[in-house]
Amino acid sequence: MTLTEAPAPRLVRPYQHYVYAYPHKTAYRPLRREEASLRALWAQEPKGALSLYFHIPFCEVRCGFCNLFTRIGAPDGLTTAYLDALERQAAAVREALGEGARFANAAFGGGTPTFLEAAELERLCDLAEQGLGADLTAVPLSVEASPATATTDRLAVLAERGTTRLSLGVQSFVDAEARTAVRPQRRADVEAALGRIRAAAIPLLNIDLIYGIDGQTERSWRHSLDAALAWRPEELYLYPLYVRPLTGLGRHRDRAPGQGEAEWDEQRLRLYRHGRDHLLAHGYEQVSMRMFRRADAPATGGEDYACQTDGMVGLGCGARSYTSALHYSFDYAVDMHRIRGIVDDYTARGTEDFRHADFGWWTDAEEARRRHLLQSLLQAGGMPVVDYTARFGTSPTDDFATELGRFADRGWLDDSAGPGLLRLSPEGLAHSDALGPELFSAAVRERMAAYELK
Ligand code: SF4
Repeated sequence: MTLTEAPAPRLVRPYQHYVYAYPHKTAYRPLRREEASLRALWAQEPKGALSLYFHIPFCEVRCGFCNLFTRIGAPDGLTTAYLDALERQAAAVREALGEGARFANAAFGGGTPTFLEAAELERLCDLAEQGLGADLTAVPLSVEASPATATTDRLAVLAERGTTRLSLGVQSFVDAEARTAVRPQRRADVEAALGRIRAAAIPLLNIDLIYGIDGQTERSWRHSLDAALAWRPEELYLYPLYVRPLTGLGRHRDRAPGQGEAEWDEQRLRLYRHGRDHLLAHGYEQVSMRMFRRADAPATGGEDYACQTDGMVGLGCGARSYTSALHYSFDYAVDMHRIRGIVDDYTARGTEDFRHADFGWWTDAEEARRRHLLQSLLQAGGMPVVDYTARFGTSPTDDFATELGRFADRGWLDDSAGPGLLRLSPEGLAHSDALGPELFSAAVRERMAAYELK
């Protein structure tokens, strides 16, 4: 079988699209109520190892690079109204899942989940446990936090309720770089937050850093890396900076589109290689282009969940959910006014309004193959061919002969992996954000191109 071939872009720019989910929400389209009842969607799904995600769309500030679904602050009563709506959604979702649903892992993301106060975080955990039947103390639970909101009382709740991983968005330990990225924070406050997190004894600490900030050099990047390494985080994520439309940096960029892009690409590639080599030399293993794990980090369980195949149940107005047939979510926006409107609409919904999906993407056998390949190939460990063939009955090298041939020609595949493993070379991994989009189907590209940015 040869799948519909996606055309390759003429110029290979390394930073095109961060593929953390396929397809991106900008490919989703409105669904008719009658075609997307949750009960029908989940009726035949395997539900033995689901992933649970709660989206909290509030932050104290809007970072200049951020295009995530989040708003600045919350007027009086909004977080309570939001949790009330989550409770109604949880009731509708639990009913749709029916008996036998088991959650293999859970995550609170956003936004900044720790924007919620300690008592509100208690309520969020109750919602997951009593509302949906997840056992947070028995499965891996990951929570995102910012330095200012990683307070002792909130961390105590999270630790007590079973958080196994706390991810802190730091971005840079250099105050001037943080300001340039429009994430105003002082290093002293970041260090204090890290001290509180370590004192809370949550097993796994992740620190997010960004490279490619204006004025950032190898020396200043190394300074941030070393400051992070001093805490011996079990995980580190190194993100290339993107400047996307409608974000703070996108609105105030002083150079014309395209101007200086080649130099910026070169800066990011250089800092990426520097960061990667530095972490590899300090006892970390590379898991993907962005993710590094300390080689002696403790395992936190959850190994029976496979992101390529298992279902995801997302709650909250920016969360996605996946069944084998449909990926769905609520409306998506980047612009602050639009986001506020979507959050307000969400909080006004009754239980009945949560019994169907709003926006989504119907997937098919071809898209399932693409998703499997994408999610496996972008991992440093690569994709065992036998896993793909067991799932689809075909060979990935037949299904994606053109794309894989192109990647091989560019030196992006690791020749030493042997015929049973499709694995990226170090250069392939460095170009993950160019390689990933080349595996998008023509239909997904078309839908993303037609999306009107808002
Ligand atoms: S990067 Fe994180 S903290 Fe900053 S605005 Fe986005 S979600 Fe909020």
